[in-house]
Amino acid sequence: MKLSLGLDDVDSREGSCTTYVASFIVEGILKAGCKLLDYPNLIRLNPNIPWKTRGNGAVAIRFEAEDAEGVFELAREVVDGFHEEGSDAGLVLLEGEVPAEVKEFSRMALHGVLSPKRALRLIERYGARSYSIGSGLGLIGALASIGNTLQGDYTFELLAYRRRDRWGKERLVDPKSVIEMDVATRPYTFNNYDEETGRILITPRGPDPVLFGIRGEYPEVLLDAMRMVRVMEEIDRYMIFRSNQGTNEHLRFRLDLGRLKAYSSGYVAGVVAEKPKIMRGGHVSFRLRNEDGEVNCMVYEPTGRLRWVAMALIPGDEVEVGGGVRKRTVKNPTALNVEYIKVLKLERLFKTENPRCPRCGGRMESMGRGQGYRCKKCGFRDREAKKLLREVDRGIKEGLYLPPERAHRHLTKPLRRYGLEKSGFDGKLINGWYKF
Ligand code: ATP
Repeated sequence: MKLSLGLDDVDSREGSCTTYVASFIVEGILKAGCKLLDYPNLIRLNPNIPWKTRGNGAVAIRFEAEDAEGVFELAREVVDGFHEEGSDAGLVLLEGEVPAEVKEFSRMALHGVLSPKRALRLIERYGARSYSIGSGLGLIGALASIGNTLQGDYTFELLAYRRRDRWGKERLVDPKSVIEMDVATRPYTFNNYDEETGRILITPRGPDPVLFGIRGEYPEVLLDAMRMVRVMEEIDRYMIFRSNQGTNEHLRFRLDLGRLKAYSSGYVAGVVAEKPKIMRGGHVSFRLRNEDGEVNCMVYEPTGRLRWVAMALIPGDEVEVGGGVRKRTVKNPTALNVEYIKVLKLERLFKTENPRCPRCGGRMESMGRGQGYRCKKCGFRDREAKKLLREVDRGIKEGLYLPPERAHRHLTKPLRRYGLEKSGFDGKLINGWYKF
């Protein structure tokens, strides 16, 4: 029997993480003699959900087993074992093929806001088993992870975990070796470090059990990459996930400027309506208009160089922007928090200047409205001379602009990945894809 087990929100702020808990469930499933049909899927959902802990990630495990009840109990025990106050764990076990409605639920979970009630309705309709602690919020991610079978573009991540006695302590990973690993494996790994600042990105900064996570195109490359990273502490366990990270999957939905819903994600194209402004804190804002309406686009200070692209825009430029809708507050109107800018068509910009003297080449000056020009240097007068129009170099080109790696979301598609997109997965898992 084909089964899909989804879990979410089994993490807590103090430690632990959904992928880590998932590794124990996978261990139990494999020990029970079940066959995995895919790498565990690490599914990132709408990054603009305000109640997420970190990256709004959920995990789906797809496998074959005879005893669905037994597996469900096993997973429940693992989740209970890790449960800490404050998390709203959700666990869903679905038998058979994933129904179209569950796939649709998952698509919506990538760009919209859903309710646990809606998840429960589908769980009931398709006779799935479920278990939740707390508010039931975790069921949304658990079901949504099952619904995303990663049919389109996908990537992999190898997550290496630390021993429990190291949690919360400094991660002993040699930064130089990370950069060497990046050079040796590029373009097949990504977001290893921030090219602008040199900051290492494979190591998270919180107290969670993750020692490092390496993202890339193929599982084999990730195993090689792991061996290249010098660590001065033990890797307690590791596991490779198949994922929608680095695919821009949350930005495929076209936003309607006439009906922007708070916390939704997507993209929209339009014309720059006003000169961009630089605001307190170094953020840049510009107005975007199309036939549906108008919105304030916010390019925040942490998005680094993307702000300079925004500042270089002028009214009339045609752009597409991707990002998340910021909720309206008493102080601030609805806005779009920008994650990328694609310049579709640049407006030509002209500057007027006084003509040059035909006799000496010096700059001329106006003798008054309709009176012509006089050379400042040699005094030559020309009643017919006119102001000149000179095209100004805009300083930016048409094309795609992203923030630096350190400001990427898990779902952001890095420049390195363009041209490396793939689809279809043969269900084969390589040797050594985990260590428990
Ligand atoms: P971690 O990365 O450590 O797993 P996280 O950032 O994934 O943490 P969670 O603790 O999983 O955060 O919290 C996200 C919560 O939001 C979950 O309960 C999840 O079910 C819920 N959620 C996810 N997507 C949506 C959505 N589109 N609408 C409403 N709720 C959602």
